[in-house]
Amino acid sequence: LFVSFEGGEGAGKSTQIRRLADHLRRKGIDVITTREPGGSPGAEALRHVLLSGAAEPYGIRMEALLFAAARNDHVETVIRPALAKGFVVLCDRFMDSSRVYQGVTGNLEATFIDALERIAVNGVVPDLTLVLDLPAAAGLERARGRLAADESADAVPDRFEREEVDTHEKRRQAFLDIAAAQPERCRVIDANRTVGEIAESVAEQVRPLLARLRS
Ligand code: C5P
Repeated sequence: LFVSFEGGEGAGKSTQIRRLADHLRRKGIDVITTREPGGSPGAEALRHVLLSGAAEPYGIRMEALLFAAARNDHVETVIRPALAKGFVVLCDRFMDSSRVYQGVTGNLEATFIDALERIAVNGVVPDLTLVLDLPAAAGLERARGRLAADESADAVPDRFEREEVDTHEKRRQAFLDIAAAQPERCRVIDANRTVGEIAESVAEQVRPLLARLRS
């Protein structure tokens, strides 16, 4: 069972993934949690290039290709093998982030994104995608609070978090559009609530798929 979490900055994806992983492990289910960009040694090597803005001078196509390279490495070396062993895989961002960040706000044409997506995922598509939705301004406030509270190197504000609220609001809408277009795979979760309330909604969405896993 493959579940991806999508949404804007500060939507609480990583917190919810941790909570869901704990919840599933308590039920005796094997779980791995992972993230993009990164999640495998090859992809983590590209993460820094992508988030630091080092690839920015070479344009959005180059960036999208690098995201796709990272994703394919992550799929083939981590996600596919874990699924084959029967693990539940919880992934912080996946293919929809490329469609939104490089496609919609990066202005890359959908045919290019489609082609890269096909190559990158190579048949490994989430069974369930949870879109954690909240107003961009609220998410940015949370993300900034997190940066202020966290002194680790990974908390250096990356270029994605320096953008306008408008851009973030456009991305929010783009995630909602994907969810509306693919209702069999995607569920929208109201992330403008307490961590506990959101976790409950997340568990509720995952439950029917667990039943399928056991049968
Ligand atoms: O929010 P998170 O910690 O997942 O951030 C990773 C960063 O990578 C985000 O700032 C996001 O904007 C960016 N990203 C991107 N394109 C993707 C995936 C992530 O621009 N396909």
